[in-house]
Amino acid sequence: MTYSDIEQRRLFELSKEILNMSSETMAPEELAFDLREVIQYHEWRYYILNDPIISDYEYDQLFKKLESIENQYPSLISPDSPTHRISSDLTNQFSPVAHLAPMLSLGNSYNADDLIDFDGQIRRLNKMDDASPIVYAVEPKFDGGSIALVYEDDVLIRAATRGNGVQGDEITPNIKTLQTIPLRAKFSKYGIKKVELRGEALIRKDFFSKINEQRLAKGLSLFANPRNTATGGLRTKDPQDTASRSIEAFIYHLSYAETFDGSRYRHNKDSHFDIIDMIGALGFKVPNEQRKRCENIQQVIEFCNYWQEQRESYPYEIDGMVVKVDSLELQEKSGSTSHHPRWAIAFKFKAKQATTTLIDVEYQVGKIGSITPVAKVEPVQLAGVTVSSISLHNQDFITGKDIRLGDKVLIERAGDVIPYIVKSLPDLRNGGESEIQFPATCPVCATLLIRKGGEAAWRCPNYQCDAQVLQRLIHHVSKDAMNIDGFGKAYLERFYELGWVKNMADIYRLNYDQIAQLEGFGQKSADNLEAAIAKAKQNPIRRLLYSLSIHHLGKRVATILATEIEHVLDLKDWDLDRFTTIKDVGPVVAENIIEYFSDQSNIQLLVEMEDLGVNMHQLESDRPKVIQADAPFVNKSILFTGSLQTMGRKEAQRLAEEAGARNISAVSSKLDVLVVGENPGSKLKKAEALGTVKVLTEQEFLTEIGK
Ligand SMILES: [Zn+2]
Repeated sequence: MTYSDIEQRRLFELSKEILNMSSETMAPEELAFDLREVIQYHEWRYYILNDPIISDYEYDQLFKKLESIENQYPSLISPDSPTHRISSDLTNQFSPVAHLAPMLSLGNSYNADDLIDFDGQIRRLNKMDDASPIVYAVEPKFDGGSIALVYEDDVLIRAATRGNGVQGDEITPNIKTLQTIPLRAKFSKYGIKKVELRGEALIRKDFFSKINEQRLAKGLSLFANPRNTATGGLRTKDPQDTASRSIEAFIYHLSYAETFDGSRYRHNKDSHFDIIDMIGALGFKVPNEQRKRCENIQQVIEFCNYWQEQRESYPYEIDGMVVKVDSLELQEKSGSTSHHPRWAIAFKFKAKQATTTLIDVEYQVGKIGSITPVAKVEPVQLAGVTVSSISLHNQDFITGKDIRLGDKVLIERAGDVIPYIVKSLPDLRNGGESEIQFPATCPVCATLLIRKGGEAAWRCPNYQCDAQVLQRLIHHVSKDAMNIDGFGKAYLERFYELGWVKNMADIYRLNYDQIAQLEGFGQKSADNLEAAIAKAKQNPIRRLLYSLSIHHLGKRVATILATEIEHVLDLKDWDLDRFTTIKDVGPVVAENIIEYFSDQSNIQLLVEMEDLGVNMHQLESDRPKVIQADAPFVNKSILFTGSLQTMGRKEAQRLAEEAGARNISAVSSKLDVLVVGENPGSKLKKAEALGTVKVLTEQEFLTEIGK
């Protein structure tokens, strides 16, 4: 079954319409019909294409709506309803095999209330009162591909994908390449002749990155994500390909076990958790610190919430937790519906991905004039936060991803909290989309934009551009620059609008009586601001240099320059040669500084600021620190080898010098200290052979110098 582009658009719109319906405005027959159609479509996107276009949460909402209609109007249940069928990923490339026990999917829960309901349901089903303890086993819900493994007489005889839950595709040769799956396991020691295990095949996040790096180096196309790479790897026709993908498998369930006399195997303890321990002891990979036996539902909630917070720190992709009644007897008594076991439920983490529509693009002007396109999207919930605008970075990002106005876009919040656009969904275009026209002129001052070779951003070259002036003022007062306490963006925007602050000098001639009268201020905040600005006037000049927003002049270059000049205006007499005699000051930043100081209006501004009391002279704190006699490496020679993780080689050498050390370039009897990074190589061997060299790790070095 496939869908045309037109059908896909219609079904996507229909899904959104149904999801946004506040009350049921459609006849139940019609709604049930539509729901079946859209659910089937989204299952196809998810299972067959491995490329869903709505979030799991949205899918579940659709599924629940259909279930509730069918509960309310049983006459509407049709035999082909998705609620009565388990999704299928059979693609007929591999021969189908029947599972020894059907692989059911799990119902979902999203919050503490859902879990409490689940606990209540188990109690009602088993006629247990609130005081009766129910122990739960909680495990990670891996985001990979499900597999079923059959062992007979201790030998792996068959492996299959989940398929439709009843039948899967046989993939034994591929599975045999997975190092984490034992080809033999001593089940016989427990009296088990034949057994079926359930597990999840997946790829560690860092291995996934390495695989893509290697593919990039070989000029191959990149894999989209760890999940697809793992599921694709299971279904490839070439077991070597499977083997090359570093796929691992975790086992989380024993679904079938028979003893040598053909009877059903019974574990000596009535506990799913203990069975997983047994499987782990037999040499299978099972989750350890992420698996817990919880004494009650409150502990379950705490454990689930804990992992929701910690999910990014876990080396594998997980999209939730699985909560199972631990007692096998109670599991059996609770039974199953046609598609879910009643004794287990998935706790789904908040969605990290969502689809929405790109409505508009706005262009922001930065302090050096860089133009950043920002997408305005229809507000959408993402990992618990409403997202309505997302950076599009630059023009190349837009063209590279073929993002258009009106496009449906897939957005994601990954490890960091900033959302980004993963891709546009061109399949869903209706022809009304239009290309994003990057402006030729500045949206604020209408100056023609320029783009220098090698730079990703278009820039407004007008130094007096209103937007840039304001951004530069915000930068000037910021923490890393002049550090004017309590003087934030909001104040500046207000003062700028009032015309009180039009340039940097104006900051130092504010009228505090006037400010005290301003709505929302009062005498106290005016006094505080006055004190903070008075303090900032005494800053070392490295702060002032950094606060000027000269392109490429970062904190490090500002610090270096501050040690070389007596007065800030000395720089107006410097030429390129003078700059390039200083280590670590490159020609690009030098050109920018020269340009800045050759502009008479900038000089004028600095003179005004000095008249207003802003310090322009080198201070004690601008000068390089004198090495103390008790510095950790006084009179020691030092050498760095291997790749350092937290700093560059030059930075390390500078720190060593500050701590009194002398950098030398070879291992000899003259060397006192060798600091080793990763893959140190021959220098370490040589130093060890000498026996007189003190060897430090990078971390030990940092500790010695007090970092
Ligand atoms: Zn401009």
